[in-house]
Amino acid sequence: MINCKDCEKLCCKDSMMPIEVQLEDLKLIAKEKKLTLDKAFDIYCRIAPFTVQPPSLYRVGIALKNPCAFLGDGCKIYDIRPSTCRLFPENVAADEKRKESMQNRYPCVLDAKVDAKELEKLKNKIEKDKEETDKKIFSSKLFLIELKHYKNESLRLHASMKELENKNMTEQAQVFFVRKMHMLDQIMNSGVAKYIDYKHEKAINMDMRKFVLTNLKNL
Ligand code: SF4
Ligand code: SF4
Repeated sequence: MINCKDCEKLCCKDSMMPIEVQLEDLKLIAKEKKLTLDKAFDIYCRIAPFTVQPPSLYRVGIALKNPCAFLGDGCKIYDIRPSTCRLFPENVAADEKRKESMQNRYPCVLDAKVDAKELEKLKNKIEKDKEETDKKIFSSKLFLIELKHYKNESLRLHASMKELENKNMTEQAQVFFVRKMHMLDQIMNSGVAKYIDYKHEKAINMDMRKFVLTNLKNL
């Protein structure tokens, strides 16, 4: 049995483990807090990278700011918490490799009882919500390539295409380049990101946070 009461709630404040939010989660938060979608995003969320293919390919998504603003003695929005929060620690407990690598930091993964059917249902819901989020907030699937792994522009472009092709992700994909991952907040959340239009192979400047806010305002 997991005892979250005696835990420091590490899973809610671990900067290495961004808590992804889909449009569906944001709608629930906005309703609960009586805010518009863009305001709820502005207050509680940030744009974050999620690993697709180590070491350099990430997808762009929305995450709760870190540490999570809803964390008090416990979760202040427990009943409507994002689906990603509901996955942990069962999703890790169900994966032997991840369980082994995370059990020291998160001993609760050893106590988690996994209901495989329920876990699958939740994962399918997240995938469906993710499709809606990509379509309505980002307009397409967005990916990031960390530049430090490549020596020059053409190598990067070639590598990004290859990685996306390997994953069958070339449809409507756009690829952003980030010099180093720790610069992402600066670039994505408060500035202009340079991205490569994968299909047309051209570089475009874009204010990512403004782009997301505008799309949310129009929903
Ligand atoms: S799920 Fe695990 S890490 Fe998160 S609050 Fe509960 S015991 Fe702590
Ligand atoms: S929404 Fe609740 S469960 Fe999720 S990270 Fe925040 S405090 Fe933790």
